[in-house]
Amino acid sequence: MREPPRPRTIIEPFKIKVVEPLAIRSRPEREGFLARAGWNLFQVPSESVTFDFLTDSGTSAMSAAQWGAMMVADESYAGSRSFARFEAAVRKLTGYPHVIPTHQGRAAERLLFSLLIRPGCAVPSNNHFDTTRANIEQLGGEAVDLVVAEGRDPASRHPFKGNVDLARLDRFCAENRARIPLGMLTITNNTGGGQPVSLANLHGASEVYRRHGIPFVLDACRFAENSYLVKLREDGQGGRSPREIARETFELADGCLVSAKKDGLVNIGGFLALRDDRWVERARSLLILTEGFPTYGGLAARDLEALAVGLEEVLDERYLDYRLAVTRYLAEGLNRAGIPTVQPPGGHAVYVDARALLPHVPPERFPGQALACEMYLAEGIRACEIGSVMFGRNEGGSFRPAAMELVRLAIPRRVYTQSHVDYVIEGMAGIAARIGELRGLRLVRDPPYLRHFTASFEPV
Ligand SMILES: *Cc1c(COP(=O)(O)O)cnc(C)c1O
Repeated sequence: MREPPRPRTIIEPFKIKVVEPLAIRSRPEREGFLARAGWNLFQVPSESVTFDFLTDSGTSAMSAAQWGAMMVADESYAGSRSFARFEAAVRKLTGYPHVIPTHQGRAAERLLFSLLIRPGCAVPSNNHFDTTRANIEQLGGEAVDLVVAEGRDPASRHPFKGNVDLARLDRFCAENRARIPLGMLTITNNTGGGQPVSLANLHGASEVYRRHGIPFVLDACRFAENSYLVKLREDGQGGRSPREIARETFELADGCLVSAKKDGLVNIGGFLALRDDRWVERARSLLILTEGFPTYGGLAARDLEALAVGLEEVLDERYLDYRLAVTRYLAEGLNRAGIPTVQPPGGHAVYVDARALLPHVPPERFPGQALACEMYLAEGIRACEIGSVMFGRNEGGSFRPAAMELVRLAIPRRVYTQSHVDYVIEGMAGIAARIGELRGLRLVRDPPYLRHFTASFEPV
């Protein structure tokens, strides 16, 4: 990877106008919260969490300009000035003329997919995000993941581990053309912590889909982070602006689904944007049925104002330089403390490899969950297990572990400072130094669906 050497510290490119106290608690207090939560971090109160890395979704800090825009919003039911402003921002970003606001990303998914997907359909992508997959499967479709082999290898340092395998994509499209109503790519690829897709790969996928006559829709929640990783890592892209790269990305597709809770820099919102009008009328009719009138789509006008400003701010180079430096800085700090992470760090998250860090805890004792719980108890850090709690299964009395035991630290945008990250790295180094003392957990309540949200555990 040819990321340039850094002569100076990369600073937060903002000063702080509004502050919120960090919740600082003692270990005995957190022990009480965790025991009452059944050793499940989705069940602890957020007031007991000092550093919350559970998700980067909807957790961004908004700017003074965004809060200011919210105050001048036009809350008219129809024809709102705020909608016009939001629509102009999305058109400027994507070049797509048809813009449909939704309350978040999955609502845009449901709108589009309910028009296109029937039982037996298949939708290829690099990796589908879990709500995208669920919305496809709920309609009887099949969500097909065709990421490159490097994308499935945590140790590979390939710069674009979000790329789709173009040869497999071409073959899949040739063999299944009649049942593919649309093809997708997720940028960045959420699986693996926001691994980017190269512009070359986007061109390749666009060409494959076009040749087979398949409409191409981007899941573009992290379009700005993807564009900046292209600038940093792809040959010939270093001199371009993130906006130019984003524009070229959108030009390669026929439309996009966006959860604005990520690179929209807002706490709620999303949209569906489309190049031509073949689906627009039916999508708007469905929107009116379940989300709201086409000029607000389940949001308040003030949300549309904040989003219009956020879509501008997120493409600022200083912001993106800082954003990706934080992710890299956290990963490198953990690696220096002997904590292995998925390589290379992507856009929005760092994944700790708990199987490698806790080789003495077998998968049926949930090494990822044990580590996440100790991070909370020792330092007030909340992270998310992505391992055998989330994906392991009990089948006929025998335990089937997940492919990897990971703990994800997803980094909220513009929320924590470098000294916060330094403190987290120090705390994690302390945990790593006594990692042999961790014993793992026993599952005591195993709900049938999405068990990571509500399962209970006991220390062994
Ligand atoms: C968050 C996310 C979604 C779903 O968006 P919501 O706003 O949470 O409904 C879809 N795809 C990707 C890649 C995401 O990260």
